[in-house]
Amino acid sequence: MIGRCDTCGRLSELFRLPDRTDINCPECNADISMLVLLYVKWKSTVRNGEQSQDLEAQLVPMLHRFLERSELRPYANEEWPEDTSRESEVN
Ligand SMILES: [Zn+2]
Repeated sequence: MIGRCDTCGRLSELFRLPDRTDINCPECNADISMLVLLYVKWKSTVRNGEQSQDLEAQLVPMLHRFLERSELRPYANEEWPEDTSRESEVN
């Protein structure tokens, strides 16, 4: 299926990831999958009180690249949140 990517808005072949309602180009889908994976790993690392710098070093540049390409561009320069106490936001 060809259409506009929900994330970056460019015309491309689109795919829907499992458990998601948005339809994205392959590049955005790859980033979303990797970000979700790393984020889940990062959350459990922080929860276990382990060192998370390595994960953050992977996660932050990827997140910035993704935000820069997406409709969320204005937020791309915001700092990585320090607050890790909001556990309930991600199920
Ligand atoms: Zn895209």
